[in-house]
Formats: sequence, structure tokens, C-alpha cells
Amino acid sequence: MNKYKLLTPGPLTTTSSVKEEMLLDRCTWDDEYKSITQKIRSQLLALAGADAAQYTAVLMQGSGTFAVESVMTSTISKEDKVLIVTNGAYGERLVKMAEYIGLHYTEYKLNYNEQPSENELRSRLQKDLRITHIAMVHCETTTGILNPLEMVSRLSKEYGKTLIIDAMSSFGGMEIDVQGLGIDYLISSANKCIQGVPGFGFVIAKMEKLALCEGIARSLSLDLYDQWKGMDKDGKWRYTSPTHVVAAFSKALDELDAEGGVSARFRRYRNNNRLLREKLARIGIHAYITEDKQSPIITTFLFPGEGFSFGQFYAYIKERGYVIYPGKLTDVDTFRIGNIGEIYEQDIEELCRIIEEYRGVIAQ
Ligand SMILES: *Cc1c(COP(=O)(O)O)cnc(C)c1O
Repeated sequence: MNKYKLLTPGPLTTTSSVKEEMLLDRCTWDDEYKSITQKIRSQLLALAGADAAQYTAVLMQGSGTFAVESVMTSTISKEDKVLIVTNGAYGERLVKMAEYIGLHYTEYKLNYNEQPSENELRSRLQKDLRITHIAMVHCETTTGILNPLEMVSRLSKEYGKTLIIDAMSSFGGMEIDVQGLGIDYLISSANKCIQGVPGFGFVIAKMEKLALCEGIARSLSLDLYDQWKGMDKDGKWRYTSPTHVVAAFSKALDELDAEGGVSARFRRYRNNNRLLREKLARIGIHAYITEDKQSPIITTFLFPGEGFSFGQFYAYIKERGYVIYPGKLTDVDTFRIGNIGEIYEQDIEELCRIIEEYRGVIAQ
């Protein structure tokens, strides 16, 4: 039994049945185990609205960042140049990766509460003809802002660029028509909206693009092309895979299906999120991102007034069964509340009741 529920953007609160899958030890060479990997790969393609003749799903050991880095290091060659859109820490992490790998890149840097603009993006693509790739985070988990996937995909197609989307915190919780949008590489991980446990990430990749990436990777273990070629044979991962995590993830995918798929999960998350924003606004706790740009995943809230102690607030809520998340902004004091995972309306109601109670206690 959990002592508290996680209101964080992953790892998040999972079901007991997902956790129970991890009670068995499995052999990586065994056909039964390898078939779990293959099942996961085809389920992921279905979630992405992607046809197996055009797209493939590649699983990669490590946390989500490893999967992002595997795309950055394996698919952008030294002749290429990537335009990186940033409005938060995860976008900035892409820049850091580009630095480490030694990629040619240019950054389209925005404030943390701003979305990229079509005119500006267009003008950058027109001015710099060396740009071959565009990389962007979909839901910037730093603030909870949602970036305009449709617009960026459209421009990427119009200018013939390769598009890399870090959809870590949104895939599975929001409908993303990867094939319809023409996204070339979409990255997410086991422990976010699909509600598995941490241990691997995955890439939904357009095969005609990935097929051209042999030999580009500057990292052996993160070589996405090699991982694909290995895994595609029979579901065997190149190196030891997180067997328990894989089994749990397979169960989590089935449970997503049983819930009614991504659209049902999206409705639950969006309902959680709206309720949270509304209820907290009523007691004077306001969101940093305006509603029109807010994702249904995680919300950043401004500290309500001077002398607010996050530590005390956190401890008070934790004692009563919920764990929230610190803020990640440097210029304003904030905290974050995630509403993904096994979290329902009654949890949000209860959390808001606890917060209101805390405000009352503090006011006395
Ligand atoms: C969670 C997350 C990641 C990956 O973080 P890890 O700690 O490596 O799992 C990357 N990008 C975004 C937008 C995320 O939310």
C-alpha cells in the first residue's frame, strides 16, 4: 500500500496490478519475454496512429532523457543543423545535448510562459537554409505549457525538415496523430501518461528517416539505429533490458486500453486539471500559465503571498496523503502539481480541501 499518492509528472501513482507484474523474474532470451516487447511496440504504434508500414517503435533503456539523447545523437549528423525551440528546462536540455554531441544548432528561445510564433519560426527557417531538423518539447513539464504541435509540424513539412518531438509528458494522455502530423521522431517514456514505472523510454520513428541513420550515433549504447535493427529481428533488446519494467508497462498499456484509450484518459486528466485550477483560484492560488496555453498534465502555481513556506506546505500535504512538486522557475516562486497517473476527481477534491485547510491554519 502506498503511504501517499504522487501528484508529480512521473514517476507517478500506478495501479497495484501494474506493480504486481514486477513480482516475476523473466529471462531476456525467452520467447515469451521477447513477445512482450513486440506486443508493446505494436501497441505504441497504434496509440500514435501510426501504420507499421511507415513507422516503428524502438524501446531504449534508461530514463526519458536517454531516449531523447539517443535520437539527438543517432539521427542528426555532423553536416546537419537543428533548430531547437526552448521555453523551459526540457527544451534547454536539448540544447545541452546538442552541445555535448557537438551538433550544429540554433536556439529559438522564448520566455517560459510564451509559445513559439508561426511568423518567427517561418522567418528563422527562411533565413537559415542550413537548418535540417527541428526539435521541440510538446508539453514543457517545467511549467505545464503546451507547445503548438500542429503549427510546428505543418511548417516542418512545408520546409522539408525532420521533426523531433519530446512528447515525454503528453504521449498517452493526449491524442497525438504522429503519422497525420508527419512527426519523424516522437519520444516518450514508461513512467508518464501510460502509467508504467521508470526504466525505459521509447521512440516512435518514421522508418524511411531512421533507415538513413546507420553509423551516425556518437554513442554505442544510445545508438537508435542499432537498437532498432536488433529489436526488429525478434524483440530482443541489444543489452540487458529492464525486464520487470517492461512487463509492468505491457500491463499499463492494456489498462490504458481498458480505460477507453487515450481519449478517455485525456478526459480524466483534463477534468482533474480544470478542477484543480478552478478550486485553487477560488482560494487565491493562481496558475502561472494562462488557461489557453495550459496542458492537462501539470500546473505551475504562484506562491500565494509573502512568507509562504513551500517546505511547510509540502510536509502538511504529504502527511495527509499527497506529494506535490517544487517549482522550476528562477525568477518567480512557484510550486507544481501534476494530475496524471492513478489520480481521480476525488483526489483533486481531497487535495484542494487539504490546501484550503492549510491556508486556514496558517491564517490563524
Ligand atoms: C520527464 C521528462 C523528460 C525525461 O526526464 P527523465 O527524468 O530523464 O525521465 C524529458 N522531457 C520532458 C518534457 C519530460 O517531462
